[in-house]
Amino acid sequence: ATPRPGFRRVLLKLGGEMFGGGGLGVDPTVVQTVARQIAEVVSSGVQVAVVIGGGNFFRGAELQQGGMDRSRADYMGMLATVMNCLALQDFLERSHGIDTRVQTAITMGQVAEAYIPRRAMRHLEKGRVVIFGAGVGMPYFSTDTAGAQRALEIGCDALLLAKGVDGVYTADPKTDPDATLFTEITHRQVLERGLKVADATAFSLCMDNRMPIIVFNLLTEGNIARAVRGERIGTLVTT
Ligand code: UDP
Repeated sequence: ATPRPGFRRVLLKLGGEMFGGGGLGVDPTVVQTVARQIAEVVSSGVQVAVVIGGGNFFRGAELQQGGMDRSRADYMGMLATVMNCLALQDFLERSHGIDTRVQTAITMGQVAEAYIPRRAMRHLEKGRVVIFGAGVGMPYFSTDTAGAQRALEIGCDALLLAKGVDGVYTADPKTDPDATLFTEITHRQVLERGLKVADATAFSLCMDNRMPIIVFNLLTEGNIARAVRGERIGTLVTT
C-alpha cells in the first residue's frame, strides 16, 4: 500500500475502561498520558475531536443484566461518559494549556455546550479540542457509534480507535496465544471474519461511508501522533 499523508482532522475514540485504568472511576495517570499525547498532536496543527466511552462507570447492557430497565441504564451510561469528558478537559486545559470545549448530545448547559456540529467545526478550526459527551444521546447505541457518526458529520479524515491492544487480531490476543495482528484489512473482511473491532452499528456506518479506521494501542507513548502523521501503526481498516 502507498504511504498515507498526515491527517488534517481526526476523531479519537477512547474507551472508558482505559480511562479508569482498569478500575472504577478516573485514573489521573492515564488521563494525564492521554492529554499529553493529544496536546502534542494539536500543537503540530492537527485538529482533534474526541469521543470517550463510559465503561469505567456504567454500561447499560451490564446494568440491564442486574435487572435495570435498559433505556434508563443506557442514560446512566451516557451521563458517565460526560464525567470522563470533564476529566480530559481539565487535564488538557490546566496541564497543557490547550483550549477545549465539551459538547454533549444530551443538553446540560451548566456543564457543557450542546452538540452543534457547525460550532464544533469552528472550534476545531481555531485549534480547540472538542470532546463529545453522552454518545449520540440515544439508548441502544454505543460511543463507538458516536465516534463514527461524529467523524462523518464533522468531516474527519479518519476514526482513530484507541485500544489497550496493538490493533485488530485474528483472535482475542488476551485469550489466544496464536492470535496474529493485521497491519491492514478491509471493512468487509472484518465483518466476514466476525472480528471484533467496534460494534456492528459503528462498523457498518464506517463501511458504508468509507471512513478509514486506525486501531492502535493507546498505551504506547506517542502513538496518537504516529497515527496522525500517517505512520503505519496498529491496523488500518479501509474499504
Ligand atoms: N450509551 C448509549 N448511547 C450512546 C452512547 C452510550 O446508550 O450513544 C450508553 C450505553 O449504555 C453504554 C454506555 O453508555 O454501555 C457507555 O458507553 P460505551 O459502552 O460505549 O463505553 P466504552 O465501552 O467505550 O467505555
